[in-house]
Amino acid sequence: MSIQQRLAKLNPRQQEAVRYIDGPCLVLAGAGSGKTSVITSKIAYLVQECGMSARRIAAVTFTNKAAREMKERVGQMLKGKEGHGLTVSTFHTLGLNIIRGELKTLGYKPGFSLFDPEDAKALLRDLMNKDAQVDAEQINAVQAQISQWKNDLVLPGEALSHAVDDDQHFAARVYEAYGRHLKAYNAVDFDDLILLPVALLQRDPEALARWRRKIHYMLVDEYQDTNVSQYLLVKLLMEERKTFTVVGDDDQSIYAWRGARPENLVTLGEDFPRLKVIKLEQNYRSTGTILRAANTLIANNPHVYEKSLWSDMGDGEAIRVVVNRHEEAEAERVASEILTRRIKERAEWRDFAVLYRGNFQARLLELKLQHYQIPYKLSGGTSFFSRNEIKDAMAYLRLLINPADDNAFLRIVNVPRREIGPGTLEKLANYATERGCSLFGACHELGLEQLLPTRAVERLGRFTHFIDGVRRRMDGGDAIHAIRDMLREMDYEAWLYQNASAPTIAERRMANVWTLIDQLEKSMQRAPDETGDENLASEDTETDSVEAAISRLVLRDILEQQAEEDDSDRVQLLTMHASKGLEFPHVYLMGWEEELLPHRNAIEAGTVEEERRLAYVGITRARRTLTLTLARQRKAYGELMDCIQSRFLDELPDQDLAWEGRADKEDPDKKQARGKDALAGIRSLLN
Ligand code: ATP
Ligand code: MG
Repeated sequence: MSIQQRLAKLNPRQQEAVRYIDGPCLVLAGAGSGKTSVITSKIAYLVQECGMSARRIAAVTFTNKAAREMKERVGQMLKGKEGHGLTVSTFHTLGLNIIRGELKTLGYKPGFSLFDPEDAKALLRDLMNKDAQVDAEQINAVQAQISQWKNDLVLPGEALSHAVDDDQHFAARVYEAYGRHLKAYNAVDFDDLILLPVALLQRDPEALARWRRKIHYMLVDEYQDTNVSQYLLVKLLMEERKTFTVVGDDDQSIYAWRGARPENLVTLGEDFPRLKVIKLEQNYRSTGTILRAANTLIANNPHVYEKSLWSDMGDGEAIRVVVNRHEEAEAERVASEILTRRIKERAEWRDFAVLYRGNFQARLLELKLQHYQIPYKLSGGTSFFSRNEIKDAMAYLRLLINPADDNAFLRIVNVPRREIGPGTLEKLANYATERGCSLFGACHELGLEQLLPTRAVERLGRFTHFIDGVRRRMDGGDAIHAIRDMLREMDYEAWLYQNASAPTIAERRMANVWTLIDQLEKSMQRAPDETGDENLASEDTETDSVEAAISRLVLRDILEQQAEEDDSDRVQLLTMHASKGLEFPHVYLMGWEEELLPHRNAIEAGTVEEERRLAYVGITRARRTLTLTLARQRKAYGELMDCIQSRFLDELPDQDLAWEGRADKEDPDKKQARGKDALAGIRSLLN
C-alpha cells in the first residue's frame, strides 16, 4: 500500500494532522478516535513522502507494550531499510539513550547500573536508618517525595529551599545523601532517566546542539500523562525546529499519582503560540452503546475542552452488569463466561481482556482460569524478570560488570549460602562507608582483618576470590562460558532444590536461569545496530562486549518488567492503568464497588475525578462487548466486608445496562450508606 492509499483511509481531520509538518501540532481527541493511528501514519508520511531519514524521528509512547505495538505497525508500513534507525520507545528509554550517549559528559562510567524502585528503596532504608529507626511507611513517603522532586526537576541541592515542613526538610536531606550515593555507585534511578538528560540539556549548550542535530521530528502519544520533566525534554529538543506532533486526551489522564500534569496540554499552547490544534470526533473502536456509556460517565467530570465522540458501528449488545455473591463467585463467573463465550463468538483467547483496579484482584481469577485451563497472560504480575531465581542471576551479572553495585552484592553474597551473617555485613557496610568504597571493594581491603573475626574474613575472601576468578575468565576468553561455569561451580541448582517445595519447581527455576543466559548470549551476537533501541546512542561508547550485553539485559529487565514479548493466544489480564491505548473485542471490568473503583484512597483524598477517568479508560478499551462485574462481599484487610456498588454505575445510562444477579430491591441501608459515602466524597472534593 502506498502512502497515498494509506492516507486515503484516514478521515479528513486525521489527514490534516498527518500532513501538517511545518510546525507544532496537537491532536486532542477522545478514546478510540485514531490518535495513535495518526502517529504511526505520520511516521510513514515523514519518511516516504517528506524524505526524512527515520534516524531523525523519535516517537514516544507510554508503555513498552505500546511502543512494541507501534514499532510493529510502523514496521508494516515502511519497506526495507526505510525504517532503519527509527526510535520508537518510552520516555524512559529515550532518556536512557541520551544518558548512554552522554555518559562522559554526565560523569558516569560505562556499565552503570539502573536501580529499580526496590533497589532505590533499599538504599534509602540504609541512609535513613543511620540516624534513627524508620518504618516502611516513612521510607515510602520519602521515596515518593524524592520522586516528585525529580519529576518536577528539583535537584538534590535545591530541595531544601523547596521544603515547607519538617518532613520535607528531612526528605530533602535524605535526597542529597541519596544522590551522592547513587553517583558513587555509578548508578541512576528511574526518575533520573528523564531528569539527568533534561538537566544536562539545560546547562550544556553543546550537548543540546548535539541532540537537536540528531532528532528532527518528535511524536508523543498519551501526552496528557507527561510530567514536568518529560515535557521539558520534548520542549528542549524541539524548541528550535518546532517540529513535533503530540496526541492526547485529557479525559484519559490517569497518572497524577506519578506526577503527570494534564496542564501540560495548556502549557503547550502557551509555549508554542503557533500550535495547531486538531480535534477528532469519530470513534472507530467501540459500539454505540459502549461509547454512550463512556461519554455519559465522563460528562460528570468538569471539562476544559469539550469533545463529542460518535461511532457508526451500530449499537451492539447492551452492557452487562453482573452482581456476584462474593469475590470468588465473581472470578468464577468471569472465567466460566470466557470459556463459553469463546465458543459462542468464535473468538480467540486473545480477544478477551479482564481489567481490574489493583493487581491483587488477579489472584483469584488466575486460580479460576487455571482451573478451566484457560491460557492467560498476566501483565505486571510475576513476570520473568521478577522471579527470584532471575533476580539472583541478574545480581551476579550486575556485580560482574559493576563491582560497585552494592545491592547486587547484598542480594547474592549469601546465595547460595556462604555463612556470611548480617552482623558481618553490617560491619562491612560501616567499613565501606568510612572508606568511601563499595562493599565488594571493602572485602579486598586489609583493614578488614582488624574488624572482623578471621572466619568471617575468610568467607568474604572466598566469595570475592570466586567472583574475581569468574571476572578474569570472562576477560580472558569466552565470557558466556565463564558465566555458565560460575553457576555450575557454585551449584546454584542445589540451592534451588533446597529451597523449593517440590523438585519440579526447582527444575523449572533452573531452566529459567539457563534461558536467561541463552538470551544474554543471543544478545551479544546481535550487532548493536539491529537492536533498535540504541539508535540514538552515540556509536563510540559501547562495543558489543559482554558488559554491553549484560548492561542491555539489566536495563531491559528493569524497563520492561512486564513486557515480555508474547504474542501467543491468551486472555489478557491487566490493570486499568496498564490498559491505556489498547483495545480488545471483549472486555471484562471487575470490581465495580465503592472503595475499589473509586478506590478508597481516592475517595479520602478527594480525587474521585481521576478514578472516573480510569473507569472511562477501562470502558473505552472494549470494541464489541463490555461486562462489568461486582461482588456483594469481599475480603478486605483480612475481613469479609459488605460491598456497596460503585457510584459510577449510577452514572451510566440505565437503558443501556443489562443487570444480572441484582436483588429485586436494593437493601435500603446500603443505598443510604452509599448516599452518605458519595456525599463525603463530594464534600472532600469541595474542601
Ligand atoms: P486511545 O485514546 O484509546 O489511545 P486512539 O485515539 O489512539 O485511542 P487508535 O488506537 O489510533 O485510537 O484507533 C482506534 C481504532 O480505530 C484502531 O483499531 C484503529 O485501527 C481504528 N482506526 C483509526 N482511524 C481509523 C479510520 N480513519 N478508519 C477506520 N479505522 C480507524
Ligand atoms: Mg492511542
